[in-house]
Amino acid sequence: STMERSASRQSRKKVVAVVGGGLVGALNACFFAKRGFDVELFESREDIRRAKIVKGRSINLALSHRGRQALKHVGLEEKIVAQGIPMHARMIHSLDGKQSPIPYGRKGQYILSVDRANLNKELLTAAETYPNTKMNFDHKLQDWNAETGLMTFVRLDGSKEQVKADLIVGCDGAFSAVRKQFLRRSRFDYSQTYIPHGYMELTMPPINGEFAMKPNYLHIWPRNTFMMIALPNLDKTFTCTLFMPFEDFEKITTGDEVIEFFQKYFPDTIPLIGADTLQRDYFRLPAQAMVSVKCNPYHIGDTCVLMGDAAHAVVPFYGQGMNAGFEDCIVFDEIMDQFNEDFRAVLPEYTRVRVPDDHAIADLAMYNYIEMRAHVNSKWFIFRKYVDNILHFFMPKTIIPLYTMVTFTRTRYHEAVKRWHWQNKIRLLVLGSVLNCLIWPVLAASALIDSWTAGIFTASLVN
Ligand SMILES: Cc1cc2nc3c(=O)[nH]c(=O)nc-3n(C[C@H](O)[C@H](O)[C@H](O)COP(=O)(O)OP(=O)(O)OC[C@H]3O[C@@H](n4cnc5c(N)ncnc54)[C@H](O)[C@@H]3O)c2cc1C
Repeated sequence: STMERSASRQSRKKVVAVVGGGLVGALNACFFAKRGFDVELFESREDIRRAKIVKGRSINLALSHRGRQALKHVGLEEKIVAQGIPMHARMIHSLDGKQSPIPYGRKGQYILSVDRANLNKELLTAAETYPNTKMNFDHKLQDWNAETGLMTFVRLDGSKEQVKADLIVGCDGAFSAVRKQFLRRSRFDYSQTYIPHGYMELTMPPINGEFAMKPNYLHIWPRNTFMMIALPNLDKTFTCTLFMPFEDFEKITTGDEVIEFFQKYFPDTIPLIGADTLQRDYFRLPAQAMVSVKCNPYHIGDTCVLMGDAAHAVVPFYGQGMNAGFEDCIVFDEIMDQFNEDFRAVLPEYTRVRVPDDHAIADLAMYNYIEMRAHVNSKWFIFRKYVDNILHFFMPKTIIPLYTMVTFTRTRYHEAVKRWHWQNKIRLLVLGSVLNCLIWPVLAASALIDSWTAGIFTASLVN
């Protein structure tokens, strides 16, 4: 009978509990369902496809190669891309209203502005089409036991439910309840950093039924210590996001001060957003905080694993948070193939492979936090981009701009960083030799001129 029991245990499909039905959780449910597991998805909110108001972290976001590859894996890429708006370049707005584009990559390379709520709904619907998935909305994880895998959920009416699973996949975002168990354990590294900036979203309506600015760009108003960006939406509005230190947000307390501030720093946007709307929307919601979370390992034994923001919340300045979370799902899936779905081997390998990459993108996002608001303004930044593009053109295999590696390839994030440091040295070398080539003729010419003028001078003295 022991043999029978173990045989039946082996033939029983394993239950995978995905905690969190946000972007990464809903996609992950598809990945596990596709493999034939019994998937249970638990989401604390109600079903957003039925809810009137959907609370989220940002209205739209930039989808790029890594995210698209993951969507492709579950057959959703085309559909989502068709609902996105391509952005080929950044459009830099200077104080005097001048607009200058800086392309993201080569011709034909672009990132996509997608609607967060819509993407989340599509992913939930896709997960639901598998007969082996069960969706549990209004289920908030309260606690779980790492030894037994027993989870306790609370519902809006106060009732509790206990559920057991073979594998718990924590996709419950930056403030993960799944991660809390990790924090109670020994040898778990954890750090969290709030940046001094907050963000506020403002809507720029269409003008005469058309986009108020050129739609196929990510618009940026870099102002050194703060900045505003705008991404286009399908309904021809733009969502503008103002990133600014909290203390500066708090200094603005009246409608007049809002207009005064915009007049000083973003004058071109006042007629586009509308002074009245601006005065009203600025005070609608307080500025939101941004946190960066790093941890290690991403798993406990063979029972639990973290993915998406639960494992690595990053600041949003590289447009990679969701993309990295989506790539987590592909990486895990690739390791599942490699180790024959044996959780005891898959989970530690996932931690080993993924931690250095997710830590690298967290660092890069912090770096871009300064680059985007301050450096894009400088001549040196534009010159460097220019040199990189020329070098990339002549040596496409040797020099690949960092942004290209991160956004348009699946080069491992930590390898992209290594390569970037190495390329910076090459760029300096090339610039050095170019200067060298320029300097010698200049020196030679000045020597010639010098002796020539000296000749004239002596001649004039003699005469
Ligand atoms: C302003 C801003 C702009 C951004 N722009 C971009 C961008 O352009 N490109 C990009 O790639 N990324 C961007 N990001 C990052 C992106 O939003 C996140 O990386 C992404 O949402 C992570 O998805 P997730 O599913 O891991 O977490 P979340 O989207 O946070 O989803 C977590 C889900 O878990 C649920 N949950 C939470 N606690 C529990 C619980 N106890 N029990 C059950 N369910 C629970 C939540 O309700 C939620 O549905 C941006 C972020 C911000 C803040």
